[in-house]
Amino acid sequence: MKAVQLMEHGTPGKFELRDLPDPKPAPDEVVVQVQACGLNHLDLWLEAGELPIPVPLPRTPGGEIAGKIIELGWAVSDWKVGDEVAIQSNLFCGQCEFCKRGDESLCLRGELLGVNRDGGFAEKVVVPSRVLVRLPAGVGFEASAALTLAGSTAMHMLTNRTQVTPGDWVLVMGAASGVGSAAIQIAKGLGAQVITTASSEAKRALALLRLGADHVVDSNNAAWPADVRKLTGKRGVDLVVEHIGGDVLPKVFECLARGGTVVTCGATAGREVTLNLWPFFVKQQKLVGSYGRNRADIQATLEWVAAGKLKPVIDSVYPLEKTAEAFAQLRSRKFLGKVLVEIPA
Ligand SMILES: [Zn+2]
Repeated sequence: MKAVQLMEHGTPGKFELRDLPDPKPAPDEVVVQVQACGLNHLDLWLEAGELPIPVPLPRTPGGEIAGKIIELGWAVSDWKVGDEVAIQSNLFCGQCEFCKRGDESLCLRGELLGVNRDGGFAEKVVVPSRVLVRLPAGVGFEASAALTLAGSTAMHMLTNRTQVTPGDWVLVMGAASGVGSAAIQIAKGLGAQVITTASSEAKRALALLRLGADHVVDSNNAAWPADVRKLTGKRGVDLVVEHIGGDVLPKVFECLARGGTVVTCGATAGREVTLNLWPFFVKQQKLVGSYGRNRADIQATLEWVAAGKLKPVIDSVYPLEKTAEAFAQLRSRKFLGKVLVEIPA
């Protein structure tokens, strides 16, 4: 089979389209014919060698996979060849205390597909059958590959790690990002008043016209937190959906109401931050970590897609042999929504 592998870390990294042996399933595994695979910031960290874990190369990246089952391990009984599936990229053991209670995102033996083992920028991928999620009727491979990872991350943040009450003010950082574009739609679906940030006219139009945000502030303006406070009558927002980190994280606290919560799932702008604890505890605010998603979050995400409440925002689609260009597009930060690689069978 053909696979695009990262041979050397760098910015850009060195990728090669390689001929590899077809993967064979262990007893509890299946082989999936990849139809589409989304790119995420995690892929850029892998490319640059910036993950806080060692990754042996070559490695086939890609965690946001949709495809069709083409082969089953002998012990797999609840799936059949031809089933259309999304793959949960945070591979989980299914046996630890956290998995047993449905918190697969906390798995003690979790692995990342496309990081700890070969992922979806390939014609075929082999995964344990427990990480498969059936695609609901009407949900295509492209929509699934655009929402399974980033969309379910947003679903986990907004419905598992925190809650939204109708009428709440929610600030979603980065309208054009994978997590941001899904979080705006989910927060609106839950009845929130949504403010988002965007750095270009095209991204502002996307937020207001396609994603349904109520307000958008220009993140190029250093005083954007004051704009958010003004929109809420100086009160501040109840919840911030954050994934940027670095200098941005302390700024979102300037937007936060008393008793409000910041939920964060990423740190693309830096992992170490300085936070003034005085206003944080005086205003009784919360900072909540969010990582990956549970099966329930992916199922909910795909159900929202099937119901037409959550729509993929697709920036661009590349064929497998142009995976390196897809990485360059994500790195450019000029994208509007998801960058995908598609591999027609
Ligand atoms: Zn586990």
